[in-house]
Amino acid sequence: MRVAIIGSGLGGLLTAAILSEKGYKVDVFEKLRFYGGRFTNLEYKGFQISTGALHMIPHGKRGPLGILLKKAGSKVEIIDSEPEGEALYGPLSENEYGNGKNERITVRSSVFPLGSKLKFFKWLLKFKVLRVDPYMDRYEEELDDFSQKFLRSFLGWSLSIQPSEIKYSKLLAIYRNVVKYGGPGIPAGGCKAVVDSLAEIIKSNDGEIYLRNPVWGLFHEDKRITGLENKEGKVEYDLYISNIGHQATGKLLGEEYTKEVESRGIKYSISLEKPFVGHTGVLFTLDCRRISGMNEVTNADPNLAPSGKHLLMAHQPMLTPDVEEEIRIGLEDLKTLLKGFEYKVLAIQSYFDGWPVNRVRSGLDIGYRTPYSNLFVVGDGAKGDDIEVDGIALGIAELLRKEFGEKINLG
Ligand SMILES: Cc1cc2nc3c(=O)[nH]c(=O)nc-3n(C[C@H](O)[C@H](O)[C@H](O)COP(=O)(O)OP(=O)(O)OC[C@H]3O[C@@H](n4cnc5c(N)ncnc54)[C@H](O)[C@@H]3O)c2cc1C
Repeated sequence: MRVAIIGSGLGGLLTAAILSEKGYKVDVFEKLRFYGGRFTNLEYKGFQISTGALHMIPHGKRGPLGILLKKAGSKVEIIDSEPEGEALYGPLSENEYGNGKNERITVRSSVFPLGSKLKFFKWLLKFKVLRVDPYMDRYEEELDDFSQKFLRSFLGWSLSIQPSEIKYSKLLAIYRNVVKYGGPGIPAGGCKAVVDSLAEIIKSNDGEIYLRNPVWGLFHEDKRITGLENKEGKVEYDLYISNIGHQATGKLLGEEYTKEVESRGIKYSISLEKPFVGHTGVLFTLDCRRISGMNEVTNADPNLAPSGKHLLMAHQPMLTPDVEEEIRIGLEDLKTLLKGFEYKVLAIQSYFDGWPVNRVRSGLDIGYRTPYSNLFVVGDGAKGDDIEVDGIALGIAELLRKEFGEKINLG
C-alpha cells in the first residue's frame, strides 16, 4: 500500500518511519530544503540552536514519544533530566523586581503548600461529580503565591499560554501524564538526532523524503482523496497523511472544515562562558515579567555548543501582539536573571502565523480524522491529551491503533 505524507515535521517522520517498518511504501513531501520542521537543529557559530523546540522531550525516554521512537527502531539516546525542574522564586536581585532574596526550589509535590494541594483535589471532586470545568484563571486566585506563579510559569514554558487559556480537565490530564511518565529529557545531539534517526529508518525501508517539494492541492471525489498535486502534476496514493494541521490541510482541499487557534512565543538562544542553570532540567523563572523558564542543554550534551561554552535556551509566551515590546521585556528579564554572568544572545526567534509554538493550542486538538476517509492528520494539529511532542506521539498512537490495527502499549 502506498502512503503519501505531507510535511516532514516530527509527526510526519515518526508516522512514516513506523509505517515503513510495517511494510508500507512511504513517500514524504516537504516544501523546505530540510526535514524536521520545528524539531531540528540550526547550526550557528558551532551552537546547535533549533528551528523550534528547546531540545526537550516533555517525558524523556519513558513517555509516549520515547516509546514510539523505540517502536520505530530509533536508536536515539534520550538523557532524562535530573532534577526534572527547579523554580527560581522570590524577587530577582535588582531594578523593577525589588531588592529581596530569591531561592531555587527543586520542584516536587512536597514544595506545594497543603492548602493549594487540597484545592486541586477539591476542584477534581467538582469536576468528577458536577462536571464543573472552568478555565484555570477562575481557580488560580485560590492558590498561594508560589503555586500561582509556578502554574503561570509552567504553562508559559511548556505551552506558551496563560491560565485563562486552559481548562481544569486539560491541566489534570497533563498532571496525570507527568505523574505517570515523569519529567523531561534531552536527546543527545538535540532535536536533529531524533529526526535524523527517523529519516534513516524511512530510507532503509525504501521510503523517500522529497525536499523542496510542496504539495499544492488534494484531489477528491465522494469524500475520498484521489491524488495530490505537486510539481509533477497529479500523483496517486492509497492513503494520505497530512502533517501540516487541519486548517492548512483544508486549504489543500479548497475548503475550511475547521479553524485553529495557535499559541505564540519567543525563544532566546544564549551563549554562556560558565553554566547558569547548572543541571539538565528546567529552571522555571517565577518572578520574571515574561521569561517563563530556561534550560541549559549543554549540561546533557556538551556537543550542542563549541568546546568550553554553554547553550542556554530561554522561552516566553507572547502576551501581546507587539513582538518588539515583548522582546524588549524578555531581554530585560534576561539581563536581570543573568547579572554577573558573561553572556551573549545568539538568536531571538519569534513563533507565530504558521510557524507557532503550537499550531493548535493545547486542549483544542480535534484528533486525527478528517471528513475524508483516506486522509488523516498527525502532528501538532492532532495531539492526544498531552503536551508537545509527547502529545503528537499520543495522536499518532491513536491513529496507528484505530486505522492500522497496531498494538501499542503506552504503559
Ligand atoms: C519556541 C518553541 C519551543 C518548543 N519547545 C519544545 C520542546 O522543548 N519540546 C517539545 O516537545 N516541543 C516543543 N515545541 C513544539 C514542537 O517543536 C512542535 O510541536 C513540533 O515540532 C511540531 O511537529 P509537527 O509534527 O506538527 O510538524 P511541523 O514542525 O509543523 O512540520 C510540518 C512540516 O510540513 C511542511 N509543510 C507545510 N506545508 C507543506 C506543504 N504544502 N507541502 C509540503 N510540506 C509542507 C513544513 O515546512 C514543515 O517542515 C516548541 C516549539 C517552539 C516553536
